[in-house]
Amino acid sequence: MRALIAGNWKMNGLAEDAKTLAEGLKALGEGAQPSCDLLVCPPFPYLALVAQALAGSRISVGGQDCHGATAGAHTGDTAAPMLRDVGCSYVIVGHSERRSDHGETDAQVRAKAEAALAAGLAPIVCVGETEKERDADQTLTVIGRQVKGSVPAGMEAGRLVVAYEPVWAIGTGRTATAAEVARVHAEIRRLLVGLVGEGAEKVRILYGGSVKPDNAAELLSQANVDGALVGGASLDAEAFWAIAQSC
Ligand code: PEP
Repeated sequence: MRALIAGNWKMNGLAEDAKTLAEGLKALGEGAQPSCDLLVCPPFPYLALVAQALAGSRISVGGQDCHGATAGAHTGDTAAPMLRDVGCSYVIVGHSERRSDHGETDAQVRAKAEAALAAGLAPIVCVGETEKERDADQTLTVIGRQVKGSVPAGMEAGRLVVAYEPVWAIGTGRTATAAEVARVHAEIRRLLVGLVGEGAEKVRILYGGSVKPDNAAELLSQANVDGALVGGASLDAEAFWAIAQSC
């Protein structure tokens, strides 16, 4: 399966920064191509600008969230068809920062993922335990609950992506060990078999949490690790490219 390296730019930068970063990535892509798919998820106001800057490259664009409804009275929200309309092919749903900042539940995340699939987007459904849950040896229980609650069952598996992002590893410089990552990813694959059947093998399972150029190769070489969701390091074109070269 072809790996996916996804950059989550979060709420960073202004238009000029987004344009510079996108153009930097496009220029790097004119050299040797990494053997993986590449995706960037800029802030909403810059999606069209980045999609335009990356036109003609092999780098896809995605949103950082979408609503579970296709339209309506939802002030401040963005519908999946709107993302598709401005050039997105992916959308992150259920990122831990959305779950904690906005109280998003598994049911809401699943509705968002279903809306994304219906709009022709590939949803990246994020799951991950907090430090407290990890310390209480609850990691697999939490992951089981989140995957069963957030991942649409019986849907087209080929477009579905799941990201394991331990909350304590996001933006902290700490990463799960390769063995921990392999254990959780194997469990997610097992859970996916129950949800999407045979197609489970086609679902890409990304790892996220302080992925950097110096730890990417080890993390990406683990079984069932089909790519990475990168936050901080995706704001630096060279660092993001170096991670992509680790595939
Ligand atoms: C993320 O926000 O999805 C993420 C993994 O961030 P970072 O790489 O900065 O830990």
